[in-house]
Amino acid sequence: MPFDLSSRLAARRAAHLYRRRPLLDAPQDVRVRVDGENLLAFCSNDYLGLANHPEVIEAFAQGARRWGVGGGASHLVVGHSTPHHELEEALAQLTGRPRALLLSSGYMANLGTVTALVGQGDTVLEDRLNHASLLDAGLLSGARFSRYLHNDPASLAARLEKATGDTLIVTDGVFSMDGDLANLPELCAQARSRGAWMMVDDAHGFGCLGQQGGGIVEHFGLGLEEVPVLVGTLGKAFGTSGAFVAGSEELIETLIQFARPYIYTTSQPPAVACATLKSLQLLRDEHWRRSHLQQLIARFRQGAGELGLQLMESPTPIQPILVGSSARAMALSAALRGQGIMVTAIRPPTVPRNTARLRVTLSAAHSDSDVDQLLDALKFALAGLPEQDLADEE
Ligand SMILES: *Cc1c(COP(=O)(O)O)cnc(C)c1O
Repeated sequence: MPFDLSSRLAARRAAHLYRRRPLLDAPQDVRVRVDGENLLAFCSNDYLGLANHPEVIEAFAQGARRWGVGGGASHLVVGHSTPHHELEEALAQLTGRPRALLLSSGYMANLGTVTALVGQGDTVLEDRLNHASLLDAGLLSGARFSRYLHNDPASLAARLEKATGDTLIVTDGVFSMDGDLANLPELCAQARSRGAWMMVDDAHGFGCLGQQGGGIVEHFGLGLEEVPVLVGTLGKAFGTSGAFVAGSEELIETLIQFARPYIYTTSQPPAVACATLKSLQLLRDEHWRRSHLQQLIARFRQGAGELGLQLMESPTPIQPILVGSSARAMALSAALRGQGIMVTAIRPPTVPRNTARLRVTLSAAHSDSDVDQLLDALKFALAGLPEQDLADEE
């Protein structure tokens, strides 16, 4: 039968992989109302608590009064306004790169950048745990596409041996489902020794890592030479919306000429750029947000370790608890929900089979006692789970 959607949906349900969208009936915050319940949430990417910050809201409102609502056109036509331009200059300064280009989403930034830089006859090498948008970009580019073992310079080196044409190595900075850091010093050394370019998508590192919140490249002190292509997104720690690519003058001009997801889309509302200019200032200057976050991370890891939970090698606010099967992850998530706590279960195909996890994310807006409440709820929920886990279906 053509378009047999009902069996596809039924199979998805049977495999415990059915997705539903929780309905958020409150601003983004650590205390939210979801599907009619008041919950303490550990699942947003608003790591610094800026998505609902009064000064950011005010900048947004003022921006809308001054610049209106819609972007009105693409950047190349008449949609590139002063707030967009000022934000690009501020992002270039934050990243220590000559220029930055503002795009409407991280997904588009990745698609646009990879496809503008490589094509048929070239090579794209990606970490196998990269974000879906990077993997999609690699496939779409038409370049020879290969995935190396997670964070493994030797596996990368073996693939570099066989690379042809211009070679782009692409990695998440902070891995979005594991929270660990890319081993950039070693990966960049491999890249340079082979004349390949390194592209880092640091969606989860900006705001959280580095003295100024400049992310993983600031953390490791890597400049344009080591990481010529740097991507960040604005919907996570910046608390607003959009994304950017930072790099050389030539890189940015190349993207303006050739990145189709940049060219053929309407610019983001200028008021969003006004809001981001404010949140960027808070992200850079309010160091206490980063240090409070670090303290919450340490508190959570200590407590979870005492409960015998399996954590990952993560120094970031992404602190997944490895559970195993999708069914067990769903059960644990439901048991927390019963205690007023929201943590999303992440299942295949987002993560490999039998590595379903609760993706706990911490925010500078959480307090010590919020973390303690999560730990108490986990202890109680674990006691109610069966000891044995069953494997995910093939
Ligand atoms: C969220 C995310 C993106 C996508 O960014 P959006 O602005 O939400 O489209 C890209 N890369 C990584 C690593 C992400 O975590």
